[in-house]
Amino acid sequence: MSLKPYQYNAIMRIYDGRQSASRALITVREKEIAQNLPEYTALQQQIIENSMRFATTALFSDSTTDTNELRKQNEELSQKKTALLLANGYPADYLSPVYTCKDCQDTGMIGEERCHCFKQAVVDYVYAQSNVANKIKEENFNTFSFDYYNDTVVDPKTKLTPRQNIQRIYDTCQAFVRNFDNEFNNLLFYGNSGLGKTFLSHCIAKELLGTAHTVLYLTAHELFDILGKAMYNEEEEFSASCEHILDCDLLIIDDLGTELANAFTLSRLSLCINERLVNRRSTIISTNFGVQELADRYGERNFSRILSSYTALRFFGEDIRIKKKLEKVENA
Ligand SMILES: [Zn+2]
Repeated sequence: MSLKPYQYNAIMRIYDGRQSASRALITVREKEIAQNLPEYTALQQQIIENSMRFATTALFSDSTTDTNELRKQNEELSQKKTALLLANGYPADYLSPVYTCKDCQDTGMIGEERCHCFKQAVVDYVYAQSNVANKIKEENFNTFSFDYYNDTVVDPKTKLTPRQNIQRIYDTCQAFVRNFDNEFNNLLFYGNSGLGKTFLSHCIAKELLGTAHTVLYLTAHELFDILGKAMYNEEEEFSASCEHILDCDLLIIDDLGTELANAFTLSRLSLCINERLVNRRSTIISTNFGVQELADRYGERNFSRILSSYTALRFFGEDIRIKKKLEKVENA
């Protein structure tokens, strides 16, 4: 991971920010609990006093019975504290630190090693993809709705309704996540816009980010922008950016076909796709193009390679974004 010092410092500031945000939140919550549940503070005070007695007893007494008794008392007091929180509608861990990454407690390190989250933090930073992190809060498998898909009109090619089709695609996406570490697979989402292609790629991104994988999400426009940089003597920047494009666990290329491409960037794209196949790194490509359009634009050879190593999923039906908008107007 080749990071410049200013990049490293910027990423460490993000970690510092997470830690202080967590501390600030706990302070606010502690005040709230002290105000609403004075009993809780009293229990806490007893635990502190016991701990002090425990320390003195351990130092000056030979009896282990006394220390065991104090330890038992403190365990009971802790249980009472938790019970008190729950009885008053608070979660049991309400006063525990809230970490973005539990594994390293937002330090970026596990012992001497960098935590898995650090690699993702680098990817997020280098490609400024924090917007995706925000989006996937709302767009994930739990919030995906089948209701927008028509269940009466049958597609002549597949003999499926749009809803049956999207259910099949949804299941394929979940299986892709489930088998991610054991089975090498790639997905090609194609079909008209407004049918949930980007949404489903966000669902997958969220699941994999949650299980310590690095995910890089780029629109074709952003990707070609990076690929084009090498043309203008920005080799160093190009290879630094490319490292993650080639290396991340999952690369999502959204909206392929909307980019400004030339022979050079197209050959770079071909290189990227091929390199990831060789290294068994998964890629999801989504495009509004049909099969023939893809072949025409990216060349038969590139395209047949994609088709043979990707699970191609065709999205069809009516634009659900229009339906969502209409719904909002009706409910307003
Ligand atoms: Zn971590």
